[in-house]
Amino acid sequence: MYELSAFRDKIRAEKDTATYDELAEKYPVNRWHLWMLVTQDDYRPTNEICDKLDIVRDVPVTPVNGRPIPAGAQVLMAQFCECGRAFIPNTPKRKKCFICSKYRGKK
Ligand SMILES: [Zn+2]
Repeated sequence: MYELSAFRDKIRAEKDTATYDELAEKYPVNRWHLWMLVTQDDYRPTNEICDKLDIVRDVPVTPVNGRPIPAGAQVLMAQFCECGRAFIPNTPKRKKCFICSKYRGKK
């Protein structure tokens, strides 16, 4: 599994010695996606393309305190609450999601 930027670096390095046709034989997507990855810094492949290339995909996230979460924000991992909701803990002690146990800010 690659971060998008790591995959971009890898494919740019490969492009130094390979043509797009050769890259397209190696990767299960068409040349256009490979060209976009190599040449366009702000190109974000769709989730379907990410899955094919083993790139970490975008996932929908719900902010619970009303502040926006910028695209590309990094997280370590999600955890599951006993209610079944996935959440990203704000502290290692948190065992319940933000619906079951409201975030009250720093104490
Ligand atoms: Zn919960």
